[in-house]
Amino acid sequence: MKNKGLLVVISGPAGAGKGTVVTELVKDGNVEVSISATTRAPRGQEKDGVEYHFLSREQFQDMIENDGFLEYAQYCGNYYGSPKKQAEEWMHQGKDVILEIEVQGCEKIKQQSPDCISIFIMPPSMEILEHRLRKRATDSEESILHRLARAKEEIRLAENYDYIIVNGPIEECVADVKSVLNAEKLKANRFDVKEILG
Ligand code: 5GP
Repeated sequence: MKNKGLLVVISGPAGAGKGTVVTELVKDGNVEVSISATTRAPRGQEKDGVEYHFLSREQFQDMIENDGFLEYAQYCGNYYGSPKKQAEEWMHQGKDVILEIEVQGCEKIKQQSPDCISIFIMPPSMEILEHRLRKRATDSEESILHRLARAKEEIRLAENYDYIIVNGPIEECVADVKSVLNAEKLKANRFDVKEILG
């Protein structure tokens, strides 16, 4: 189907500002963000069904067995997965779907949907990343250190993405992501020439 929505994977270390970028993209409309399922406990003001579907390990396992995920992965001791049904419905409606997921999940999505677009949101430096993580103040010291170590591993894999966009000033980062999505939509293989010829 030529005018199916784009499947867009956005990754980047915790604290890189992916969430802010995604919030800005959604304001433009015709973009939907997949709500992941996770076994991690809600953080701060997070609500079930808004930031995540918070599941027990048993519920998560049931979803795996029922082929309910496009992909799932383990991250810092918890499971995270992208529910399949909603994302597929949105794409068939011609909407772009954003998966905000970590690097292992991106690998799996690339294998099964080679035409997905993968974008890595890069912090300007490790110092800035650490500062942003500490400012969030919802994580324990142990969790912050764990996430920083994981961030280094993820940054090493950033070259596997289609695009790397540095998140310095947020407006510039959002504008860059929008440029990528606009260009991707203009690719020749997404155009149905027969529609013009009649
Ligand atoms: P957090 O616990 O900070 O909300 O998320 C931790 C990491 O898990 C982030 O890198 C986030 O992008 C990733 N993540 C969130 N949902 C999913 C998912 O459905 N699948 C995968 N593979 N990663 C996810």
